[in-house]
Amino acid sequence: MRRWSDLTERVAATTRTSEKTALLAAYLGSLDADELPLAAVFLTGRPFPEADQRAAGLGWSAISTAVTDVAHVPRQELGQAYDRYSDLSLAVEDVLRAAGHAPDPGQAPDLAEVAAVFAAMESASGPGPKTSLLRDLIARSDPETARGIIKVLGGDLRIGLREGLVEAAIARAFDRRLEDVKWAGMLTGDVGRVAILARDDRLSTAELVLFHPLKFMLASPAEDAGEVIRRLGPEVWVEDKYDGIRAQLHKRGADVRLYSRDLHDITGQFPEIADAVRPITWDGVLDGEILGWKDELVLPFISLQARLGRKDPSARIQAEVPVIYVAFDVLAHDPAGADGGGGVAGERRVVPLLREPLAARRRVLDGIPLPTVDRGGRFLRSHLAVAADAVALEAAFAEARARRNEGLMVKDPTSPYTPGRRGLGWLKIKKALATIDCVVVGVETGHGKRHGVLSDYTFAVRDDETGSLVTIGKAYSGLTDAEIASMTTWFEEHTIARFGRYRQVEPIVVVEIAFDVIVRSRRHASGFSLRFPRIKALRHDKAPDEIDTVASVTALYEGLQHGAELLVTASARTVPPKPT
Ligand code: AMP
Repeated sequence: MRRWSDLTERVAATTRTSEKTALLAAYLGSLDADELPLAAVFLTGRPFPEADQRAAGLGWSAISTAVTDVAHVPRQELGQAYDRYSDLSLAVEDVLRAAGHAPDPGQAPDLAEVAAVFAAMESASGPGPKTSLLRDLIARSDPETARGIIKVLGGDLRIGLREGLVEAAIARAFDRRLEDVKWAGMLTGDVGRVAILARDDRLSTAELVLFHPLKFMLASPAEDAGEVIRRLGPEVWVEDKYDGIRAQLHKRGADVRLYSRDLHDITGQFPEIADAVRPITWDGVLDGEILGWKDELVLPFISLQARLGRKDPSARIQAEVPVIYVAFDVLAHDPAGADGGGGVAGERRVVPLLREPLAARRRVLDGIPLPTVDRGGRFLRSHLAVAADAVALEAAFAEARARRNEGLMVKDPTSPYTPGRRGLGWLKIKKALATIDCVVVGVETGHGKRHGVLSDYTFAVRDDETGSLVTIGKAYSGLTDAEIASMTTWFEEHTIARFGRYRQVEPIVVVEIAFDVIVRSRRHASGFSLRFPRIKALRHDKAPDEIDTVASVTALYEGLQHGAELLVTASARTVPPKPT
């Protein structure tokens, strides 16, 4: 593990991609078959492979307890070190080193031992046993090794490892084609397995396995119609952009599972969707969005809040916020058809459709016997139109808004499905009233009736160049009292440091912020500030690495400055006036 940790330091020390790849390739090529998959997975900043459902389940508080126990220092010392580095792994290394922590090198854990402890943490229940497993591991690790362990647990290596670099290093280490490595990575979602397949020259045997979620394809933002046509034209496909919860649906016979964007199984939260599709004769993988839907109308995103994170929702909640699944893509299917429903389809393979153009995938989607809402079911296919110029796009935007959807997704009908990428095959034209996704970095107690609860949030976007978080504003309206109360408990448990009324908190909670105007300003580290910011929604479905960046805010700012006509005119027509 020490070698792995040292390698990440060397990778961090160079900014040149070619040098990073060379360092990684030399290292991966030197490992044996037991170490290789573990090292590769850890290099993606994860204790377990991405498609794996497991998580070590350790937060700041547990890490802080374990480390400060080993170092015999008060917890504040770790908070202060974190303030200096803005990086938990470096703070941990610093605290252990300053405390003179120097365990017997003969006890130093190797990669397999660290992986075994991560697995034990996952199965241990409750923070106590998890913390004590970590405490024992840190006690055996020198400060540099501990830094590596915390990097993996923290989920963000911060060594400038762009996505795909590990794959490039695997290709180079074993002299395989990068394309083959990437394809195997997409299908298996397990970079460790891919490393082994590359080493043994068996990449072509990689298969898409049902009930192992694939990474989701993401969209790039676009500001105006002209740009969209220039980038994807001459003719583009236009779908409504639904404001719900992205979900991947896997089905084989009677087995149906839904996975969220962070690849967690969320079937239990939406049993009626799984029940609705179970009887159909079809096996494969769909991509789509879960929406609140009542009386043939889309419900606003906020209504889904009542269903998030709630397993086995009661009949009352299911009736209050009924949900449907809007399918917009199909990623795999069994062309021979299913087994008639209900039974086990054996080990029959599904065929991946990722490399097929969108137009071909849509034809497959149109042929699936989905139980649609017009027949009393819970499925829709995304609304699809074709546009060839800015005027048609603008009309489509207004129509999508009239159907109560957020905006448009513009897609290139020839584009493949690229899991995990913000490809240029999909462009999103966001809602007329712009919002940005930010992460909460600080909270304060409120005033008046909000006295005693943590209701004022300071939030940040990410600086693309340094990867650090930079503040952009502060808001204290938009959430319900119940939301504020439950978030208060959460923030108390995830406080990094206290400064009077203000608490610096772990940057995990993503909030969607609405505002009236965006201006350049020195008041916040991002260089921007927002006029009348308000919290539109807590986005528990989003991870902090998905928030807006200084670059995306700049693009939004410029778009709003220089006649983003499409957005402005559409908003003027379709957005009701704000209540005064
Ligand atoms: P954003 O969350 O603003 O970055 O926009 C991207 C998200 O839009 C995707 O992750 C999907 O959850 C959602 N989305 C809504 N409608 C569609 C659609 N028709 N096609 C693809 N993604 C969609």
